[in-house]
Amino acid sequence: MSAVDFDHLSKYMKYSPAARDILQEPERETKIQLRLKLSETESISAESYVVYHCTVRGPAKGGIRMAPNVTMEEVGRLAELMTWKTALVKIPFGGGKSGIRIDPSPLTSFIKAAFLKEWVAQMRRDLEKGVYVPAPDMNSGPTDMAVIFGEMHIPECVTGKPIGVGGLPGRLEATGRGVATITRLAAEQVLKQSPKDLTVAIQGFGNVGSFTAMYCQEMGFKVVAISDVTGGLHNPQGFDIPRLMRHVKEAKFIEGFPGTKITNEELLKLPVDMLIPAAAEDAITEQNCRWVQAKVIIEGANGPLTPAADHMMRERGVPIVPDILANAGGVSASYVEWHVSKSGAMTTKEEVLKSVDNKLEDAWNRMRAAVSSCKCDMRTGAELVALDELQTALRDRNWI
Ligand code: NAD
Repeated sequence: MSAVDFDHLSKYMKYSPAARDILQEPERETKIQLRLKLSETESISAESYVVYHCTVRGPAKGGIRMAPNVTMEEVGRLAELMTWKTALVKIPFGGGKSGIRIDPSPLTSFIKAAFLKEWVAQMRRDLEKGVYVPAPDMNSGPTDMAVIFGEMHIPECVTGKPIGVGGLPGRLEATGRGVATITRLAAEQVLKQSPKDLTVAIQGFGNVGSFTAMYCQEMGFKVVAISDVTGGLHNPQGFDIPRLMRHVKEAKFIEGFPGTKITNEELLKLPVDMLIPAAAEDAITEQNCRWVQAKVIIEGANGPLTPAADHMMRERGVPIVPDILANAGGVSASYVEWHVSKSGAMTTKEEVLKSVDNKLEDAWNRMRAAVSSCKCDMRTGAELVALDELQTALRDRNWI
């Protein structure tokens, strides 16, 4: 089932039923059986799912998730999100995603690379033609992207590569930078207050959460609560984020850093101005959302509110900046990497982060214009803007 409520959108915009039919179903779903012989008696095998949701605006773009419980349905949902995200921020990519149903943690780096090479062998035609451009996702990282690049010898066939192997300075920071930029815009234009007068709580201190926290602090916000899988910490005076990042680099988790211990659930309920769920999906549920006191929610993670929680928060009138806008800094930077890899041009971290800011600010302004003309919430506004882009592309390519 599509994550986008087309019936709801029809209250604000007339769209073609053919566009709805196309966007409600994935364009292509592929199941691949992977098998790697390790010795005469040992082998590893796993299923892989590849979904291209909609490629009308460009190649399917989306990361490779490696997890023992990943399903075709989950991969499909994430691919769909990429279709809407890339359309909203006007990046010439479509929605794609892959999953490999394996826990890679017990694998040596050599065996993981060999297994990934099996995946590349099966996907070679699409990677060669640029039909699908993968990137890192859960349990896959830059070194895995380097393996794909090494097999293909085509720099632009994959993004999220290590900097020394055609990767992009600033890609690591880009998603968090984008989330922080959107948080600043929400402070200034929704709450009409300066960041320096506002408090922020962030769930998750991985790639997205840590850089969101760092840039939020640089912008003047007081980051008073943070958490990871080990639990949360609260400090009404605000944390020293660079120090916390150094701690996590050594200790892996936030545990042991000075601050009052709280649970992840307590973090969500703190009386802060901005709440940024930047960890897992479905963190804010029908049960806990009634206790959320934040004035604005910024979706750093993909799908951090369940549909029921989203509905209840909308009823309460709590502004929510949707994931397709808030965390689109990552794919915006990936586009720069793809472009740079193709052209051989050089760029700097400052230029990359500037382009992320520009892309997101432009999308924010278009979303706000839709919110103001349709008198709708921000998720609806963002989806209307993206639908308009997608519909134009569908017409331009004569798909409808
Ligand atoms: P990550 O693995 O680097 O970090 C995840 C963080 O969340 C870690 O601190 C982990 O300890 C914590 N965490 C995990 N489960 C938790 C739980 N149940 N409760 C509290 N904390 C928990 O992942 P990431 O790259 O930061 O991605 C986070 C989210 O952002 C995901 O939804 C991902 O799909 C989305 N996202 C990431 C990017 C990107 O560029 N990395 C881009 C767009 C969207």
